[in-house]
Amino acid sequence: MTKVFFSSWNGTIIDEREKVAVDQGDFSQLKVPGQLGGKELKAFIGWAGLVVIDPDLDIVAALAAFYGRMQKESCGRCVPCRVGSKVICDRLEAILKGDGKTKDLEFLAEIADLVSAGSLCELGISSPIPLKDALIYLREHFLHYIDGSKAQLSNPILKDSYDTILTAPCRNGCPAHINIPGYLECIKEGNFEEALAINREKTPFVGTLGRVCVHPCESNCNRQPVDQALSIRLSKRFAADFGLRNTYDQPLIKKVTPYANGRVAVIGAGPAGINAAYQLARKGYSVTVYEALPVAGGMLAVGIPSYRLPRDILNYEIDLVRRMGVEIICNTRVGSDITLDQIWEEGFKAIFIANGLHESATMGCEGEDACYRGFMPGVEFLRRVNLGQTVELGDTISVIGGGNVAMDCARSAVRLGVKEVNLVYRRTKNEMPANAAEIHAAEEEGIKFHLLANPICILENGGAVSGLECIKMELGEPDASGRRRPVPLDGSEFILKADSVIPAIGQVADFDFLGESSAVKLSRWGTLEVDEHTMETAVSGIFAGGDAVLGARTVIEAIATANRAAVAIDAYIRKGRAAVNPVFYFERYLENAVVYNKDCIPDMVGARERREEEVLPVAERVSGFAEAELGFKGPRTAISEAERCVKCLRLGLAVYNAGRAEND
Ligand SMILES: Cc1cc2nc3c(=O)[nH]c(=O)nc-3n(C[C@H](O)[C@H](O)[C@H](O)COP(=O)(O)OP(=O)(O)OC[C@H]3O[C@@H](n4cnc5c(N)ncnc54)[C@H](O)[C@@H]3O)c2cc1C
Repeated sequence: MTKVFFSSWNGTIIDEREKVAVDQGDFSQLKVPGQLGGKELKAFIGWAGLVVIDPDLDIVAALAAFYGRMQKESCGRCVPCRVGSKVICDRLEAILKGDGKTKDLEFLAEIADLVSAGSLCELGISSPIPLKDALIYLREHFLHYIDGSKAQLSNPILKDSYDTILTAPCRNGCPAHINIPGYLECIKEGNFEEALAINREKTPFVGTLGRVCVHPCESNCNRQPVDQALSIRLSKRFAADFGLRNTYDQPLIKKVTPYANGRVAVIGAGPAGINAAYQLARKGYSVTVYEALPVAGGMLAVGIPSYRLPRDILNYEIDLVRRMGVEIICNTRVGSDITLDQIWEEGFKAIFIANGLHESATMGCEGEDACYRGFMPGVEFLRRVNLGQTVELGDTISVIGGGNVAMDCARSAVRLGVKEVNLVYRRTKNEMPANAAEIHAAEEEGIKFHLLANPICILENGGAVSGLECIKMELGEPDASGRRRPVPLDGSEFILKADSVIPAIGQVADFDFLGESSAVKLSRWGTLEVDEHTMETAVSGIFAGGDAVLGARTVIEAIATANRAAVAIDAYIRKGRAAVNPVFYFERYLENAVVYNKDCIPDMVGARERREEEVLPVAERVSGFAEAELGFKGPRTAISEAERCVKCLRLGLAVYNAGRAEND
């Protein structure tokens, strides 16, 4: 825990000026770290006050830096914010130069009140708070400049030892930190092209995420306690679909640096691999992606069924990356078709491993190793369906698991004409890891849920699956995951008739291609160990991301790791050392701190209904693999939904003891 000298965060005053600073238990809510990116933190100034760790901090200079960024970010629509932030900046600069007067302090307090009261978005409403707090509690810092007892800018190091960040609860909740308020604002204005461009700063998979993202942004939306969270995922989908219809493609992908000297190899053409290739290509690198399967896209292509993610959308987005010059070599498994050593010999300067998890976890159920006809792990079943291979399932099947993969298997089986699909899950519906919308759609499509049940034996007849013996469960004490542990109920065995059994309880990785003597380290969960910021493995020049590092997670998290790795790979090739920008550390810190506060009910008018998408009727849905969810009806719906966004922008500034990192 960090020793805090003064804090006014969220209106709770901690004042240790006359005392020896102690660890602040109360303070854990903001979780202010002792250091960020290896640099000692002196202060954090932001939307809910100021936190001072170093008593020697030049508070006036820090505030001047904070309001300098506010002025830059003010969109200018609310005059008090636009003019007020400029006036605050000018007056603070004057005080720093020794031209301040005592009456300036009253004036600054009045302006700060005016900006808060006269602004419509949170940037204007919340940013004046640290100034107001400083004027009340740390007034002597201003007076020292005004009465001349402090020399001009007594702490000049501040000039190059701070970072600012503009975030929002939704943006902070997005692992890739997509500028959500920024693109919603563009949609509001009808500037759909720019909305798409903002998304493409982080990923080419905008239409893909608009369909399958688990949207953690929405669970961080401030509208939740007022009425309902914004439909952020569908807004993203709208921007992508509009762009696709109007061929807004290549020009939107701006190259961010002209540097072009080096080749990078990527293992795996899933969202992590392709996103890393995309960001590296934008930086000017020549990238080759090796993919074991005949198609690119990873689980987007061979896991997620096409009724959730149509392949023309996915392939268009992969093609955008190809058109930037990225070479994707399919049907080439690293380990058998080409070795890691051969990749290095080709002259690549760095390697990004993103091979995902394509092997199935085992259930510990009798008969699962017996190779009965009709027994097929979920990822294999989906891969075969997605690659257009024939799969014989019979009339009645059992799918085991409660996650999205299980739902995809069950819903795909319905579309393949299976008459009875039973889903067996050992806990209750409340503990199911699948999205609520997926569970609801599965029920609508007639899938029978057998909850609090666990398979114990796969039954066979002549080498083919004939049934599944299960046992009923009850929930006991919570386990390591925090969920109540399912416990078998003796004597409650029952049998489900089944022509096929599809377990979908988890995936594991295959890292054989690394070779036994590889210095790349594996974690105890069987995933790759990396530096969490740079994504570099224990071997210099080898980076990794996506599910191979995180375990079975999500597309947006895979994209986030790839974006960090691309920045670190760029630094590694240019400067010989993997590094990320300070803002990445800042973002990572804020991910763990409280930006979205569910206990804080925002002061806004509610009852603005969330706009939902159109969905195909059940009968049409189950008759094939046509897209089931259809997005917003049109631009008017998208604009009216974006108008529900109240721009909860949060400005933050971190002051360090040392200068900026090299890679800034
Ligand atoms: C059925 C299913 C449904 C899902 N639904 C969702 C969803 O709705 N929303 C969501 O956010 N997430 C979902 N996920 C999770 C999401 O798909 C993954 O988190 C994401 O795809 C991980 O991306 P990745 O690039 O790390 O790996 P992957 O997508 O798995 O891609 C890895 C690629 O590497 C290739 N590869 C493996 N080994 C080698 C090798 N030795 N040489 C060359 N290539 C190799 C693989 O063939 C694959 O193409 C789902 C997953 C599954 C299985």
